Amino acid sequence: MKCPYCGGEESKVIDSRPTEDGERIRRRRECLACHKRFTTYEAVETLPLMVIKKNNSRELFDRQKVLNGMLRSCAQRPVSYEQLEQAVSNIEQTLLNGYDREVSSVQIGELAMQELKKIDEVAYVRFASVYRRFADVESFFAELEELMKDRKP
Ligand SMILES: [Zn+2]
Repeated sequence: MKCPYCGGEESKVIDSRPTEDGERIRRRRECLACHKRFTTYEAVETLPLMVIKKNNSRELFDRQKVLNGMLRSCAQRPVSYEQLEQAVSNIEQTLLNGYDREVSSVQIGELAMQELKKIDEVAYVRFASVYRRFADVESFFAELEELMKDRKP
């Protein structure tokens, strides 16, 4: 596991504990080269979760992508990276507990909003406004497409 600060490959584990949901092991590590500390998560390998995007293409569920989106909405807010990590774990767990191996990106957006609402009101409003705007643009295009179809001879 490479150190995120210096890229060093040797580290020692200084603390190990299961996450709240018990689905992951959180390890606190210290880099042997630069002595900075970082966290890794260990999880049981699960069946892949596919995300159906708005244009109907599919891609693998990517924790980091969801986390990045949430991080952006938390800029300048008193929200820790760990809080967001936990929120993404909650989302992932909710999805994995469902019956489907395929979920829509809309569903993920909704879950992210729910999590942010619990963490920070401002971040929630930011995320929701961006998210809803996209939803509107899409319905706008859908409308437009319908109109165009009608005009074709
Ligand atoms: Zn290091």
